[in-house]
Amino acid sequence: MHSMHFPSHAQPLVSRAAGWLSALLPQDCQLCGTGSGAALLCQPCRSSLLRTGTACCPRCAMPSPSAEICGTCLKRPPHFDATHAALRYAFPADRLIQSLKYSARLPIATLLAGLMLERLQDAPSMLSDALPDVIVPMPLHPARLAARGFNQAVEIARHVARALQRPLLRDAAVRLRDTPPQADLPMARRRANLRGAFACHGDVTGLSVLVIDDVMTTGASLNELARVLKRAGAARVENCIAARTWLDGIPQGGGHHV
Ligand SMILES: [Zn+2]
Ligand SMILES: [Zn+2]
Repeated sequence: MHSMHFPSHAQPLVSRAAGWLSALLPQDCQLCGTGSGAALLCQPCRSSLLRTGTACCPRCAMPSPSAEICGTCLKRPPHFDATHAALRYAFPADRLIQSLKYSARLPIATLLAGLMLERLQDAPSMLSDALPDVIVPMPLHPARLAARGFNQAVEIARHVARALQRPLLRDAAVRLRDTPPQADLPMARRRANLRGAFACHGDVTGLSVLVIDDVMTTGASLNELARVLKRAGAARVENCIAARTWLDGIPQGGGHHV
């Protein structure tokens, strides 16, 4: 069975990703605007980002003491096999993601990808030596894509795929329905609401898929996407997320993302 463990020879890939960051011209910090040398964030802003740490459920990345599978996942296992989240969706990570999405500050995608690669490498839940076979970004509905001009998940996934040297299947999954924000609905309603929201047009038969998204709130969209990918033949689906809402057991309604 595939998982996302970084074999020791993958170390240089991550160093290479970090290398792109330092190869940039002098920057202003993406959060506070002060000079940040070659980095996209100044050191104080970088250290103020809240990491998820190790005490989270390996399946859904919600807080879980001793990093055990959480009660929610035990009771109703999601279709995805694991979730790796770099940051907690809280200040200032929320500001970073909002400027990426709504102000089109695309360098932030590079920054988030770097943090996600660090997280993948550190993840304690990884089970075997295999990297994912393919990278699939969470698709955006065409209407939203037209309005925004880019899919932030694709922008992040591009860097992750390059660092892991794995193909980016940017059109393998498509979003057929633009579901309204539904963080205030009970989980059963959310799941029902999302039926038919995605289709898989790529060949993922027998593959281990790493799904990339910027924010995970309830996990309902990722769960439905994983269901569709598995039905299309994917052997394993893991999520790699820039930021995860971080309330014990109660996902917080971000309003804009489900
Ligand atoms: Zn700063
Ligand atoms: Zn869980």
